[in-house]
Amino acid sequence: MKLFACTSCGQTVYFDSIACKGCGALLGFIPDALAMVALSTEGGAAAGPERYLPCAHRSSGCNWLVNQRDGAHFCVSCRLNRTIPDLSAPGNVRLWQRLEGEKRRLIYSLLRLGLPFEEGPGGVAGLEFDFLSDSSPGGGGRVMTGHAGGLITLNIAEADPVARERNRFEMNEPYRTILGHFRHESGHYFWDRLVRGSGWLAPFRELFGDESADYAQALQMHYQSGPAPDWRECHVSAYASVHPWEDWAETWSHYLHMVDTLETAWVYGLTLEPRHAGGEVLATEPAADPYEFTDFQSLISQWMPLTVALNSLSRSMGHEAVYPFALATPVIEKLGSVHRVVRGAPPDG
Ligand SMILES: [Zn+2]
Ligand SMILES: [Zn+2]
Repeated sequence: MKLFACTSCGQTVYFDSIACKGCGALLGFIPDALAMVALSTEGGAAAGPERYLPCAHRSSGCNWLVNQRDGAHFCVSCRLNRTIPDLSAPGNVRLWQRLEGEKRRLIYSLLRLGLPFEEGPGGVAGLEFDFLSDSSPGGGGRVMTGHAGGLITLNIAEADPVARERNRFEMNEPYRTILGHFRHESGHYFWDRLVRGSGWLAPFRELFGDESADYAQALQMHYQSGPAPDWRECHVSAYASVHPWEDWAETWSHYLHMVDTLETAWVYGLTLEPRHAGGEVLATEPAADPYEFTDFQSLISQWMPLTVALNSLSRSMGHEAVYPFALATPVIEKLGSVHRVVRGAPPDG
């Protein structure tokens, strides 16, 4: 994630900032320019010839702006919502705001990567979101997180840290975050959009396996008997071993973890130079913008040392490892293939 400067006073501000702590100016994020600007006293903003207004969800915490030419009330992230929770129910506003904050981070990455997520020609579905609770009318009881035909459904209970941690513990998962859910489900969407029926299908099957295997049966097997004991040898997570589609979505999600975290390290000018003999293996070169890397190898060689340092930092603070993953060689190959699909490389290149 980028760092931003208040355009009114120059103070450092952040992706989530809604007002500048230096001068008090109200701030807005321009998605088409990926820039943060201070709002005028009239509440709008300008960048070159373009005029912007706050998203209609600003009072609910959205700091994104809408290009006046779009003629839309909602920003490019908020307008993807099909269903939002019942905001009159106690606690729902807070849970929903947390979801939206994480969703904007997903959309930021998609914009940064130039990935298409709006409706396309020939009936290609755009990305949509349903945020439901178990008590939503017509929800039919327990809401399961998932993706179908462009629609991502998320149970808003996942925004409650206690419920999410309970789920994480019960499912024996080392990593469970709202952003991780969004990234994972977007992986299913982009498999449909970029891999299904394309030249990438054959290379996909070679690396991830045959996705025509019975999905429902694979899922049932996983919940009955657990993952294969050797899943670590070629999967990024236990859940990735369920079915080639889940493997893809988990790998895709991991790729987004990588580029976003590397971008943050890059904007802070972070490089590693371990101060002990033999520490060179953990050294990194001054990084470049990871969204601009065309070469996957340079991306992964920046990533591995950074994850070691990240984990050491979080252990120093008494937290669990912030990065509870170990990437086996076949997993790195899969990440490389996601990289090539994302960058629009030719499938046979
Ligand atoms: Zn300021
Ligand atoms: Zn918005």
